[in-house]
Amino acid sequence: MSETKKTAGQKLQESLSYKRTNYFEKASKEELKEMFDYAEDYKKFLDNGKTEREACEYAVEDARKKGFTEYHFGDKLKKGDKKYFVNRGKSVVVFRIGSKNIEEDGLRIIASHIDAPRIDLKQVPLYEDSNMCFLKTHYYGGIKKYQWTAIPLALHGAVIRKDGSKVEIRIGEEKDEPVFYINDLLPHLGGEQMSGPASKIIEGEQLNVLIGGLPYADEEVKDRIKLTVLQILHEKYGMEEEDFLSAELSAVPAFEARDVGFDRAFIGAYGHDDRVCAYPAYTAVLNNESEHTVLAMLVDKEEIGSEGTTGMQCKVYEDLMEEISIALGANFRKVRANSKCLSSDVTAAYDPNFANAFEKLNSSLISCGTSLCKYTGARGKSGSSDASAEFVGEVRKAFAENGVIWQTSELGKVDFGGGGTVAKFLANLNIDTVDLGVPVISMHAPYELISKADLYSNYKAFLAFMK
Ligand code: MN
Ligand code: MN
Repeated sequence: MSETKKTAGQKLQESLSYKRTNYFEKASKEELKEMFDYAEDYKKFLDNGKTEREACEYAVEDARKKGFTEYHFGDKLKKGDKKYFVNRGKSVVVFRIGSKNIEEDGLRIIASHIDAPRIDLKQVPLYEDSNMCFLKTHYYGGIKKYQWTAIPLALHGAVIRKDGSKVEIRIGEEKDEPVFYINDLLPHLGGEQMSGPASKIIEGEQLNVLIGGLPYADEEVKDRIKLTVLQILHEKYGMEEEDFLSAELSAVPAFEARDVGFDRAFIGAYGHDDRVCAYPAYTAVLNNESEHTVLAMLVDKEEIGSEGTTGMQCKVYEDLMEEISIALGANFRKVRANSKCLSSDVTAAYDPNFANAFEKLNSSLISCGTSLCKYTGARGKSGSSDASAEFVGEVRKAFAENGVIWQTSELGKVDFGGGGTVAKFLANLNIDTVDLGVPVISMHAPYELISKADLYSNYKAFLAFMK
């Protein structure tokens, strides 16, 4: 309908009502191309960064290509410096020193995580049973265990051998490499299994990864298949069985990131949570030229509570901000008080197939842009840092001024469940923080789905926030 045909009521409604915008619909031809090109680069990040170690390494490599150099505590810093700080090879902070006085202007922080749900090996994992060799596991993060059976798995991680040397393992990703597998029960015998609750369809101790079946050619030996596997591990990685004691190995889906849909609107992949925020976070800092001092934090252990030396609760990130302040001659308390943070983690996209779990008015809709989540938590917002209206207003204004298509979200119906992110740990430092991230379909499944529009909106939102 053309402008002249609109009634007074229609015009009034348009000017006063809030409506979400499908970014695909709003984007120009050029912007659609940018969106799809950016998605191609993101898919490479996904395929090369399935663990926090790999994602960290990939981000560092990208930063180096853009002239960023490694920072260590105590190093001098000056305006214009482009740096990255690596924490134990599992988390990285990419940052750029702006021209503004950080005591007055603070820091612009985007915090995301690069760990994802997966199946970790136990410390004594190897055993043989009924002509099959398996690895015992303990899953990492919140998963529906039954989703991880009967799919191709790859093994990733690091082994510290008895002489202290480290060997990195990544097998199951290339076409000519074998994959690994978790068995499930055939439906013909699954009557009892399928009649129980879904949480019991596959139990934790049934998540055993099948890794071999060829008996070693010596009938005098017990556990001959296990010996074949040990022989291969020794030849390939210089490993002995005892080296599993000091290993961090994970089974992750062996799928690659692929476009989904005839029109290629979506991307299916393992680990969108939270690489779909981590990638835009660090690339926004790499491509940023604002006068602010900007940091992209890619941290570990979010999926199991952000604890430990590489999780967001570790002092190391606060130490880094303090070191930056000291190096620039600024009072850290003032820096923190004037800093602003987007805690960037994914949210649940409204799914019409599971409408009952959502309250539609406040759920994020796929392709309507990155989602701002004022509060997370569960049962009366418990555990949430709940951003202030003032700060949300400030972010909203920056997005509007920069033409960012975005929306708000609440994770599911009230009292239906809930979730949390790293936001509160930054907010507790006296830094204004709000959650912002991409809506995901099938979150925490081995193959998650996002919209290319939302990925690009997230990137544009970060650029606007740092501007
Ligand atoms: Mn997450
Ligand atoms: Mn998660």
